[in-house]
Amino acid sequence: MTAYKDRSREELLQEKSVLEEKFKEVKAKGLKLDMSRGKPSAAQLDLAMGMMDVLNSETDLKCSEGVDCRNYGVLDGIREAKELLADMTEVSPDNIIIYGNSSLNIMYDTVSRSMTHGVMGSTPWCKLEKVKFLCPVPGYDRHFTITEHFGIEMINIPMTPDGPDMDLVEKYVNNDPAVKGIWCVPKYSNPQGSTYSDETVRRFARLNPAAEDFRIYWDNAYGIHHLYDDKQDNLVEILMECKKEGHPDMVYKFCSTSKVSFPGSGVAAIGTSKANLEYIKKQMAMQTIGHDKLNQLRHVRFFKDIHGMVQHMRKHAEILRPKFETVLNCLKHELGGLEIGNWIEPRGGYFISFDALPGCAKDIVAKAKEAGLVMTGAGATFPYGKDPQDSNIRIAPSYPTPEELAIATDIFVLSVKLVSIDKILE
Ligand code: PLP
Repeated sequence: MTAYKDRSREELLQEKSVLEEKFKEVKAKGLKLDMSRGKPSAAQLDLAMGMMDVLNSETDLKCSEGVDCRNYGVLDGIREAKELLADMTEVSPDNIIIYGNSSLNIMYDTVSRSMTHGVMGSTPWCKLEKVKFLCPVPGYDRHFTITEHFGIEMINIPMTPDGPDMDLVEKYVNNDPAVKGIWCVPKYSNPQGSTYSDETVRRFARLNPAAEDFRIYWDNAYGIHHLYDDKQDNLVEILMECKKEGHPDMVYKFCSTSKVSFPGSGVAAIGTSKANLEYIKKQMAMQTIGHDKLNQLRHVRFFKDIHGMVQHMRKHAEILRPKFETVLNCLKHELGGLEIGNWIEPRGGYFISFDALPGCAKDIVAKAKEAGLVMTGAGATFPYGKDPQDSNIRIAPSYPTPEELAIATDIFVLSVKLVSIDKILE
């Protein structure tokens, strides 16, 4: 396949007219397709329907410590839920608090508490002139909207295949006391699907922050979300690394079962040092008498243990893998060699990240929409919704059926080709 940039104007115009015909045909079908949000499909949700049966009117609803889960009590989660989620996030059950149904909610709460009350005795961020967060880009839009909401200045940190550019991270964190945090999705990242290397994690643990209240916001949302049995990414466990380096309090790990059981009805947790946990619990005691213990119990009785969860994730992978492969094969087949876009083949997670020619992402998303395909808004993967290159597009293959996905990807590549030709001809 000859790269578009190496074709003559006439050749490109000819290609364009063929593509425009094809585009007209799909547009005429009046399709309604959505590749925008990383939601599990109905078939994936069906996998956890057994959870509806594990608790019924006959069930003993006492947890392992003898507490009646129907009643008030147990601020930080029942023991067996702590054990399950601790295994999921590779920390000790003594280093975990079980919250409610959403890890994003914990992250918001964590930033919010730091704004109003500070971090373990430090000045509340709202009293400081400037508070900054580092944001590896492209990244998860909802992280960025939390920090934007609190008026925190966000600094873009480019992602490399090994994780965030650690030279820059070290430069900011170790020298600027206004830098209080960094958003990280360290495994099967949203949107690249890549995993931080061992060296990157170790460099995180070796940071020497200028701010005593600097924390790493380690959102391991896709920690057990592999697509393959034989090709899996490994992530070094950061809480222990930080402890080894003499910074036991430097990291908050977030996780949830949103994409294991039911998004919005799962169980979420924070894993961190005991000192951080004690500080958090003081505030939590003002917020709630305890989270939903019946849901915690339901999850434990359904999965039993981490082994049960891992088996369950294999079933998710069976459904997700062909979808990812449909998209990846189409990208490779239709765009390979044209030099109008790059992407990474992820081994897990929920996304494929596509980098178009600079200045093309917005137009590609708009073009796809013309033919009835909704993509994540261009720019959404950057703080303030501003992609300086206007290049990154997040593809979420999980929700459409395989048939819909094949058509959606065809529309996407058509849109990429048409917009890229116009760009080259400009
Ligand atoms: N973190 C990341 C990186 C995500 O991609 C998502 C959902 O897409 C979430 C957190 C949301 O998690 P939860 O449902 O636990 O709030």
